[in-house]
Amino acid sequence: MNPEQQALLRRLPGVDYVLNLWEERPPAQEVPRPVVVQGVRSALGQLRSMILAADDALDDALFSDSQLLHLTEQAVKKAMGFKLKRVINATGVVVHTNLGRSLLPEGVARHVAEISSQYSNLEFDLEKGVRGSRYSNVEGVLCEMSGAEAAMVVNNNAGAVFLSLETLARGKEVIVSRGELVEIGGSFRIPDVMARSGAKLVEVGTTNRTHMSDYEGAISNETALLLKVHTSNYSMVGFTADVSLKDLVALGAKYHIRVMKDLGSGNFIDFSKYGLLKEPTVQETVAAGADVVTFSGDKMLGGPQAGIIAGREDTIEGIKKNPINRALRIDKMTLAALEATLHLYRDESRAITAIPTLRMLTMPVKVISTKAKQLLNQLRKLGINRLEAMLISSSSCVGGGALPLQELPTRCVGVRIDGLSANSLDRAMREAAPPVIGRIENDLFIMDLRTVQHEEIPTIASTFEKIMAEQ
Ligand SMILES: *Cc1c(COP(=O)(O)O)cnc(C)c1O
Repeated sequence: MNPEQQALLRRLPGVDYVLNLWEERPPAQEVPRPVVVQGVRSALGQLRSMILAADDALDDALFSDSQLLHLTEQAVKKAMGFKLKRVINATGVVVHTNLGRSLLPEGVARHVAEISSQYSNLEFDLEKGVRGSRYSNVEGVLCEMSGAEAAMVVNNNAGAVFLSLETLARGKEVIVSRGELVEIGGSFRIPDVMARSGAKLVEVGTTNRTHMSDYEGAISNETALLLKVHTSNYSMVGFTADVSLKDLVALGAKYHIRVMKDLGSGNFIDFSKYGLLKEPTVQETVAAGADVVTFSGDKMLGGPQAGIIAGREDTIEGIKKNPINRALRIDKMTLAALEATLHLYRDESRAITAIPTLRMLTMPVKVISTKAKQLLNQLRKLGINRLEAMLISSSSCVGGGALPLQELPTRCVGVRIDGLSANSLDRAMREAAPPVIGRIENDLFIMDLRTVQHEEIPTIASTFEKIMAEQ
């Protein structure tokens, strides 16, 4: 620290001085005092960092009362707003885990609002007038859609896998192919989850090839489960071999050992009908004879965060009775959202249009192109010479650790602003209200219109207008 910086730091007023300024200003929004005090501290902190970071002399206006109030107001405004807020997803990643994965269909969100703000029959049997089970609210429709005998739901699929393993194989052995010991983002690793569940992992085969004889050779008196994990977030090509679920079920039947399949991102719809790559559906997996199938509620299913466990009645019964279940149980909002989402699947064409995740995944490139051109027009209409916008062909991804090889042709709008770096533009877009999340490529700020909703297009245009006005 040089002497000038020391002198400047001494000139910074105390918290009380700024608090007085705040109280004397024309009252705007009612702000609780602790929030104001925090805001003042943050404003003074910002000035302090500025002084310490500055190489040259600082402008005197930095210490003016109006500047102090301005910084305080900014900090207070930020503190009064919600930390968790809606954003515009212009990344083109449909099931974006960092941006909330799946959007609930409108009717589903309304149902959640009603159930969560009123009393409900969450655990009450309206027919008999006695205590009921919360899971019975979705078990029927889950069995109807999947063809399974029984079903239940927990907080997320990681919980579903853990609970199933803990129930079926604690203290026993579980056989898994080395090609399926996957890691899902956010430190969910099959071997680690297995260890925590108390089940003993028995790895068989090699990374690229596992045969029936590998599984059979590993079966012992201690074997409680044969587990197949869908390699949902990566793909193996070349000299590979694995054992189909059907064959594994036959092996399990021969030795009276249960078979479990962790689907990860499950769905009832065969996406290959819509031009996407083939993924095993939940019904196919149940029909292949798995005793337990686990999958996420908010990946390709497009519903709320949940882990669905479907399968044979005796197996699911045991899982339902596991006391750990209580620690993983879903709340009424999840339950309401899941039931309403599942109802939409009764009519496939309705599901495709009403469930945002499915709509965006199957969106024809023509529709995306129209949206991109609309955004382009609105940006050009702003008449800002420094702003250059262009149409770009690219591809979006499914995300959520599903269909890693799927390329979804898409249209993007790329923006370059003279005198503003792509990084600065990206930051300004992220700090806007609502934030617009895109990506940087070749010094352009790129927005993929697949995941941008129609009504968000004017919002994006006015975000650019505001950013330019502040420049
Ligand atoms: C995503 C995934 C999980 C974890 O599911 P969450 O819903 O994120 O808890 C488990 N297994 C597989 C194969 C997955 O793809």
